[in-house]
Amino acid sequence: EKSVENHVFEADVARLLHMMVHSVYSDKDVFLRELISNAADACEKLRYEAIGRPELLSEDPSARITLTLDEENGRVVIEDNGIGMSRNDLVEALGTIARSGTRAFMDMVEAAKGKDGAQLIGQFGVGFYSAFMVADRVDVVSRLAGADEAWTWSSDGKGSYTVSQVDLADAPKRGTRVTLHLLEDARTYASRWTVERIVKEQSGHVPVPIDLVEKPGGEASRITDGSALWTRSKSEISKEEYADFYRGISGQYDEPALTVHFRAEGRHEYTALAFVPGSQPFDLFDPDRKGRMKLYVKRVFITDDADLLPRYLRFVRGLVDTADLPLNVSREMIQESPILAAIRKGLTSRVLTSIEKLADNEPETFATLWETFGSVLKEGIYEDYERRSQLLALARFRTTTSEEATRSLADYVKNMKEGQGAIYYLTGGSLAQLKASPQLEGFRARGIEVLLLSDPVDSFWVTSAPDFDGKSLKSITQGAAELADIKKLDGEESKPGDTPPTIANFLAFAKATLGDAVSDVRASDRLTESAVCLVAPEHGPDRQLEKILQGAGR
Ligand code: ADP
Ligand code: MG
Repeated sequence: EKSVENHVFEADVARLLHMMVHSVYSDKDVFLRELISNAADACEKLRYEAIGRPELLSEDPSARITLTLDEENGRVVIEDNGIGMSRNDLVEALGTIARSGTRAFMDMVEAAKGKDGAQLIGQFGVGFYSAFMVADRVDVVSRLAGADEAWTWSSDGKGSYTVSQVDLADAPKRGTRVTLHLLEDARTYASRWTVERIVKEQSGHVPVPIDLVEKPGGEASRITDGSALWTRSKSEISKEEYADFYRGISGQYDEPALTVHFRAEGRHEYTALAFVPGSQPFDLFDPDRKGRMKLYVKRVFITDDADLLPRYLRFVRGLVDTADLPLNVSREMIQESPILAAIRKGLTSRVLTSIEKLADNEPETFATLWETFGSVLKEGIYEDYERRSQLLALARFRTTTSEEATRSLADYVKNMKEGQGAIYYLTGGSLAQLKASPQLEGFRARGIEVLLLSDPVDSFWVTSAPDFDGKSLKSITQGAAELADIKKLDGEESKPGDTPPTIANFLAFAKATLGDAVSDVRASDRLTESAVCLVAPEHGPDRQLEKILQGAGR
């Protein structure tokens, strides 16, 4: 007869268990994520150990997690063929708390109390003990890889647990079997539909395949294949595999326009796999739209709400997987984490340089990308001061010399006329309207290129007074045009110096007649054919921004 040892939980464990058992947290699904993540960790640990001791894998070399459901008896079994636990491991790992931050977490939950406290439980990974949110008894049977004995651990979560040895025939050949005796109101976790949904939602990219057995003795069917694509090296991944993965993660059915896959090493270690979609998601301009980058810690999904990229890259889909954060990282911790800030910075730079490379190497693909997402990228010119010049250099424009949005500011600067001091632009509601503007006449006559900015966002970023290559950007509807020094194409010189008396008389007459409706009336080199045009003052919003702001009811 095997002897049964009785153990009392360490004080902190008892406290945590009390929290789990009495949790009013409604989303108890997280327990499965935790147990699957432990099972996957165990498989990864074995994988590592087996590098030096290949015999540990013996006749069963491929890692596997099996979920066995028993709806009739209200049970769910999570079994892995990973590293397993010895008797001492069971007592150490499941009787004490080694996880750093757990005590701080418990303090927070207790301080928050009630519903808020419950909410916190879902945001943290709560580890093995979360099993007691859904079960009134948990049995663990484990056999350490390479050992010739097996042990079982059992508890009802009420302050104590038992440990005893079991026959090898009653244990997995290697690894751990966790059996949950489900609470009456948690029996849905023994149903195939629920379990499959949760696994796909939360653990679909765990790097170990997961099999599901619908009832004891039933057939196993694979529900996820365990290939965490991003952990493989770039050279081994085909374009089709990337595209499939992209479609899975984005829910879009097109091809990615750009794939960025890299592993950062050094101070912070993480892997990132990011895609620029081939077409515009419908809610791109919805003010509530958030970024869609997923955060993984050691291949376990944590959140898709971590702001891994700035807003102006909100169209990028993909994930970051890091080992630098604890699995039980909370949303609050994520927002303030300097590690996340560093990852965000590194990722933003990589995405932007990849877009730059695309612009250099595949101008046509880039042109499509710019057509699709240029309006969003331009938000960065006024939102991200640090990267403003990088984004300005990336931007492409329609101008008086190009119908397509293909002119970069570098192209523009190369094309500047002698004596031209600024980069000129005209904002307006549509390209047709812009092209017909009388304001362009003087610029056309001198062969000066003008950026035609018809995108609503243009009126905003131009007000952040950007300059490019030492040249300021200047609206042609604003202030003096300073064209007198630049030769017209037909050779006719503008006459510098004083305004002739006939014109001066007319200006005085116009000012008197228009009164307060205008602030000034001036002679200008702006026009060649039209008699007059309206111009906004040098400082303050230009005419198009005024219209947009009026339209917005401000
Ligand atoms: P964490 O996974 O963050 O360490 P958990 O509470 O989830 O915290 O698990 C506690 C410990 O229990 C793990 O660190 C591990 O040593 C052990 N453990 C849990 N499940 C398994 C398993 N399936 N196989 C091997 N060890 C396990
Ligand atoms: Mg865990």
